[in-house]
Amino acid sequence: MGTLTGRTALVTGGSRGIGRSISLRLARDGALVAVHYGHDATAAKETVGLIEAAGGKAFAFQAELGVSGDAVALWEAFDAGLAGYGAGPGLDILVNNAGVTLPKPIAAVTEEDYDRVFAVNVKAPFFVIQQGLGRLRDGGRIVNISSAVTRIAIPHISAYSMTKGAIDTLTLALAKELGPRGITVNSVAPGFVDTEINPTLKDPKVRAMYAAVSAFNRVGEPADIADVVAFVASDDARWVTGQYLDATGGAHLGL
Ligand code: NAP
Repeated sequence: MGTLTGRTALVTGGSRGIGRSISLRLARDGALVAVHYGHDATAAKETVGLIEAAGGKAFAFQAELGVSGDAVALWEAFDAGLAGYGAGPGLDILVNNAGVTLPKPIAAVTEEDYDRVFAVNVKAPFFVIQQGLGRLRDGGRIVNISSAVTRIAIPHISAYSMTKGAIDTLTLALAKELGPRGITVNSVAPGFVDTEINPTLKDPKVRAMYAAVSAFNRVGEPADIADVVAFVASDDARWVTGQYLDATGGAHLGL
């Protein structure tokens, strides 16, 4: 029996990158994992395959985020996926992980760019939570994936950084609002993690530069983040809510 046996988890963007690792870890802990994806069905199927090969339970489902009606569509697809899997309705753990970046200096950011990054990174999680609250059981968990950029100023991603600031504020406000139901809400903030969102990490010089900002002199791996999410999702974290958990390998701690 895993610590999450009998629980159901939904990981947005659970198909690739950090989300895949979170899906794998929660499934390893015993949860039935609903692996959400937006566009890449192959990656989502691979994630489900990896979970099943390890003896876990998962299904994939699709919903485009950042478009009108996205949250309603996501939950309809989730409900259908659960029913198709033969599982009962509702869930215990919601991980808002799906996100996009916007690596441009402020002068180059268009109104469309700005609206898009806020639609996917802020508006979508807000309404996914809102529309999911009737399904999320009392005592449940909401984990929002934030970023080190709300603690560390990084040039040329100001609009993206703002979206993660909004997520941290949402975490704080909702933790108080949902406390009476025993639901915890926390942000987990990765630093530089080796995923497709960071293609520049393939350049050894860039990689070495990002590694050097960590106290451990390496860039993060998705599993480094997934293990922190697993803690926040577990019963062990029942007394932790409204918090920002820095999972950056001690990035920019000081001189
Ligand atoms: P990634 O490898 O690019 O994966 C992004 C995931 O989000 C994919 O599963 C993708 O699914 C989904 N997604 C993106 N846009 C979507 C949309 N419009 N609709 C539906 N799904 C969408 O990125 P990652 O590095 O794992 O990032 C995961 C989270 O960590 C993000 O919130 C990111 O901001 C945060 N983060 C990452 C780092 C880092 O260094 N990697 C650092 C700090 C914070 P599809 O491909 O199917 O669309």
